[in-house]
Amino acid sequence: MSRSRIGAQVSGATGATLVEVLVAVAVIGALAAIGIPQYHGYTERGREAQCAHNRYTIETAERACALDNNGKPCLGIRKLVKSGYLSGRLTCPSGGRYVWATRDPQDPHYPTIGCSKHSWPSWKGAEAKKAKKAKKPQKPKNQEKAKKAGGKKGAG
Ligand SMILES: [Zn+2]
Repeated sequence: MSRSRIGAQVSGATGATLVEVLVAVAVIGALAAIGIPQYHGYTERGREAQCAHNRYTIETAERACALDNNGKPCLGIRKLVKSGYLSGRLTCPSGGRYVWATRDPQDPHYPTIGCSKHSWPSWKGAEAKKAKKAKKPQKPKNQEKAKKAGGKKGAG
């Protein structure tokens, strides 16, 4: 045998050659190179989900505050906590800052909470909702087309 086995001289049992150890280390390195970025992606997605949940909770608390105060929201976490609408101060897990915006045309009385790292407030979501609502009445058009097609068949 030309290759010496690591540990073979000590115990007399068969060990791994240096090449085998290097191959194993290379495989572990390759797996780590693939896995570590994915792990960071998962953790960031988790933080993003936590942030979205926090913003939703703050928005709900603002709505509750507004309902109790004749439509006037609290407009701030400290005031929400002080008034008892939030049990604790919610922060973005990625270190973003929460932003209050009140210019949502869909909902002008209640603020929308944005995050400086995850979700800056924009009204694209509101516009998409409007577009969806506008698209919904298209179903009867299809039925009319079907009726027309059926009518043509019946006439022809
Ligand atoms: Zn955030």
